[in-house]
Amino acid sequence: MKVSMVSEHASPLAALGGVDAGGQNVHVAALSAALARRGHHVTVYTRRDSEDLPARVQIFPRLEVVHIPAGPARLIPKDELLPFMGKLAKGISRDWEKRPPDVVHGHFWMSGLAALEAVRRVAQGRSQIPVVQTFHALGTVKRRHQGIADTSPVERQWLEPSVGQAADRIIATCSDEAFELKAMGVPQERISITPCGVDLDLFQATGPAEEHERTYRILSVGRLVPRKGVDVAIRSLALLRDAGFHDVELLIVGGDATAVESDAEARRLLSIAAALGVRQHVTIRGQVRREAMPGIFRSADAVVCTPWYEPFGIVPLEAMACGVPVVAAAVGGLRDTVVDHETGLLVPPQDPQATAEALARLLADPGLRRELGRAGQQRARARYSWDRVAAETEKAYLQTLTAKAAARLAGARGLLEPAEGAAP
Ligand code: UDP
Repeated sequence: MKVSMVSEHASPLAALGGVDAGGQNVHVAALSAALARRGHHVTVYTRRDSEDLPARVQIFPRLEVVHIPAGPARLIPKDELLPFMGKLAKGISRDWEKRPPDVVHGHFWMSGLAALEAVRRVAQGRSQIPVVQTFHALGTVKRRHQGIADTSPVERQWLEPSVGQAADRIIATCSDEAFELKAMGVPQERISITPCGVDLDLFQATGPAEEHERTYRILSVGRLVPRKGVDVAIRSLALLRDAGFHDVELLIVGGDATAVESDAEARRLLSIAAALGVRQHVTIRGQVRREAMPGIFRSADAVVCTPWYEPFGIVPLEAMACGVPVVAAAVGGLRDTVVDHETGLLVPPQDPQATAEALARLLADPGLRRELGRAGQQRARARYSWDRVAAETEKAYLQTLTAKAAARLAGARGLLEPAEGAAP
């Protein structure tokens, strides 16, 4: 199959950990690579966000990234990209002129818009290319949690549901998202649930682990944005200290590439730590390259993920693959990946007390840590390889192609059948 991925802001080639570069980049990169390994030809279209980027980058056979000029060639926050989606669609449809794809897969609502528009542009005289959509995050959920702090363009409120309704198939990454999609008006029969995966060659339980000085290390990994709830981890660190765990480090990975001091969220987190008297126990490492992540995961006694909400959350899977137990808020995708008391401990969201109690249980019990870590590793390996995710995604593509062909056939049959009341 010839597959076009559209990922407007999240390039598979970007560095991770910045405000707008995280799970979606990993997802698009790993899924595209796994589909290419299965023999498909995959082209990823993304916005050209630097003058230095070449028009096309062949990553390996059958996998190419195409940078489409759409708006200024510099990093622009994703919430300001909507005006450039028309240009992105135009660039993509132009690239399809010679050889259109069999299926288009949009990632994030704005990519869905660009994908649908690109398909409309090339549709004249041809059958429409099927569009599959993964939202990665939903505006309804974001608004519910972030309220007026949500910087999404106001148009998202009606454009996102219209993408959901116009796309031929929606791939939700967790069961929670499927409920949200139904509430948004997407018919159930057009929704598939396929999780994200984890790179099992990179994230393994055996291998070197970074050294650390304190008795225990708790790890938080992700983009430094308030909704990731890293402050909950800091507050739970203070509660752990009050419970007698005096020598614990909280290592926070993610944030600004250049200097932690220039990152507003990093400054906010450190001031919370200072106010609670645990500043000396908190380290913000900033952005870390992917290849260095497994050694950091393996150095941790527990990984803490306490977002307000989470469409999927690849970090807990990476921790599980590295054999490290997870303390996770029971929200979104984390409720599917982390099995309470089997591969980690689930806690209510935004609850530092419950988070501290769960962490205390783990720190006090190396046997429990080992048991949960081992089960997590097995679960990650059995269910979340990118090869498995790619096979399921391929199934969703084929289902979409079949449904589209069947609808076309029914339409053609309708044309051939005599109109009601017409003479035989
Ligand atoms: N990540 C990384 N380096 C960093 C920070 C994050 O490689 O400095 C990676 C992390 O390992 C994970 C991804 O970024 O693969 C974050 O994905 P997740 O789904 O947990 O969060 P999202 O960014 O989608 O909200």
